[in-house]
Amino acid sequence: MSAARALPSSRRPADVSPEDWQDWTWQMRHRVRTTSDLARFVEPTQDETRAIAALASRFRFVITPYYASLLDPRDPDCPLRRQVVPRSAELEDAAGLADPLDEVAHSPVKNVIRVYHDRIAFCVNNECALYCRFCLRKRMVGDEEWTMKRRELEEALAWIRRTPEIRDVLLTGGDPLVFSDERLDWLLSELRAIPHVEILRLGTRLPVTLPFRVTDALCRMLERHHPLWVHTHFNHPRELTVEAAEACDRLTRAGVPVGNQSVLLRGINDDPAVMKELCEGLVRLRVRPYYCYQAQLLEGTAHFRVPIERGIELFRSLRGRTSGFAIPLYVLDTPHGKVPLTHSYVRGREGDDVVLETYEGALWREPNPL
Ligand code: SF4
Repeated sequence: MSAARALPSSRRPADVSPEDWQDWTWQMRHRVRTTSDLARFVEPTQDETRAIAALASRFRFVITPYYASLLDPRDPDCPLRRQVVPRSAELEDAAGLADPLDEVAHSPVKNVIRVYHDRIAFCVNNECALYCRFCLRKRMVGDEEWTMKRRELEEALAWIRRTPEIRDVLLTGGDPLVFSDERLDWLLSELRAIPHVEILRLGTRLPVTLPFRVTDALCRMLERHHPLWVHTHFNHPRELTVEAAEACDRLTRAGVPVGNQSVLLRGINDDPAVMKELCEGLVRLRVRPYYCYQAQLLEGTAHFRVPIERGIELFRSLRGRTSGFAIPLYVLDTPHGKVPLTHSYVRGREGDDVVLETYEGALWREPNPL
């Protein structure tokens, strides 16, 4: 695939065979869990070592070998490393909340979150391939208490069956692609059999953190459940590797539209040039930049948050300077739904004209009699 030619690849350790490295189950079994595991890929700093120990009981530290191999071994400020390796700054956030979106209050049945009338997020799984330090659901991911037993999945399915206004179901978690093909096929088949469920969506970071999970067999199975969409989560252009490109290519060839939902993170992607490179790299892979989320007031994440005004200016600076469909909608999720965070290009009305602002800041009067 031509778009993948200029991309970097993961760095497979010499003592791992190519077959093992590309086997997603091997990757899951050999995940980095301790400072000494991490030291195979990077030189952990004192702060990282202390934070891994101090945060062990609060939010799991796990990284796939694939993603660990993308980290800069010597730079603790590497934008990928900051996403997955704990820092003591996580302990210094007095304002952060455990559940800023009040998802528990919007849950009619375990792990179903309903904010809108016609669609739900269904947290089918509490496991991820790795745990992002800014995760909105850090209160539940990796925590056994939130594991969905078969009986609980059945109860959630029963609730969807008796709620006819639900036309759009987002399977999320955790990460639904951590499920085996068989388990996911069963769940998608159950949902497909519900006449009022029109759209199925998978929210997954595995194309980014474990792209080998996107096998041909998985894609053949997903194809049977159309219309099915995938929302993935690239945050930085360095995550756009050959392997990630191949995973996205397999999905799109299976007819799955792939969209990207990033989070605006300080020191990682809050720079217009970095965001532009990410968005343009995504569209080269046929992945549509869909949303960029404002980081929530979430416990342990003060060091990631960006002032909203800066985020608005960042996305305004991209307007007119790259393809329109390469610019995601910058949004804040609230307990009452998403709020777009945008600069207003409409200055107001003057008589029969509406005064508009162009992307270069000039004014344009559009005749528009009432
Ligand atoms: S992959 Fe998604 S759900 Fe899992 S830890 Fe990262 S942000 Fe959270």
